[in-house]
Amino acid sequence: MTDGRQDPAAALPAASEAALARLATALAEPAGPVVAVTGAGASVASGVPDFRSDAGLWQRYDPVASASVEALRADPARVWELLWELDELLRHAEPNPAHHALAALEEAGAVSAVLTQNPDGLHHRAGSQRVVELHGTATTLSCLACGAELARGEVAAAPPSVPRCTCGGVLRPDVTLFGEPPPEEALAAATDWCSRASELLVIGTALEVLPVAQLPDLAQDSGARVWEINVRPVHGLDPDERITAPAEVVLPRVAEHVLGQRARSG
Ligand SMILES: [Zn+2]
Repeated sequence: MTDGRQDPAAALPAASEAALARLATALAEPAGPVVAVTGAGASVASGVPDFRSDAGLWQRYDPVASASVEALRADPARVWELLWELDELLRHAEPNPAHHALAALEEAGAVSAVLTQNPDGLHHRAGSQRVVELHGTATTLSCLACGAELARGEVAAAPPSVPRCTCGGVLRPDVTLFGEPPPEEALAAATDWCSRASELLVIGTALEVLPVAQLPDLAQDSGARVWEINVRPVHGLDPDERITAPAEVVLPRVAEHVLGQRARSG
């Protein structure tokens, strides 16, 4: 399946090439639900930086002081400095080939669900239907006072002002802020998918935040094979298969293989 590639720069290490071929074969005729877990690495090619990396925002902002609900209530203007910066990054972000490949694989029945740690909404925009947002979403905001929910597009405020509800309350993006647990419903859905998966794809994430970090173990204990697709292998993760390459390189090739096989057999 590697024949005919034009770009030698896209060649992966031999072990990763072999694992990629096995993944494509597994997804062509999956034995059960195929579940993808995505993290910051899946959106880097969309211009959304990995906030935990060296150049990340957390180097300039203390997450406890700048991105917790307590801080937002105590000093909304200060927290919105950071939130506006995130908003600006996400406003320019477009789905990349990794997002499009996952959407195409879902449409072909080769991926059942995407569990994402990214609040950027890019999986939805690429066309994925079953998306579980483990860290919430930046596409809606809620009022801290009355609980009203607004779409991002309905919020007219601009930096540096603090966006407020018609009731006067401070608005917050519906992302999981520092110190908050993941949305309960999302975690329950993710747990359910992982306990039923035959293949779990860990894509662009170090999975270092509990309780999301436990999902691969849960899947493995339930009989799933875990595939890691990361630029750098994650310490502490024990995948059955490892593809050491960026998601936007690996997933389009997997999708191409699966869709090609479908076309030939269909
Ligand atoms: Zn309100």
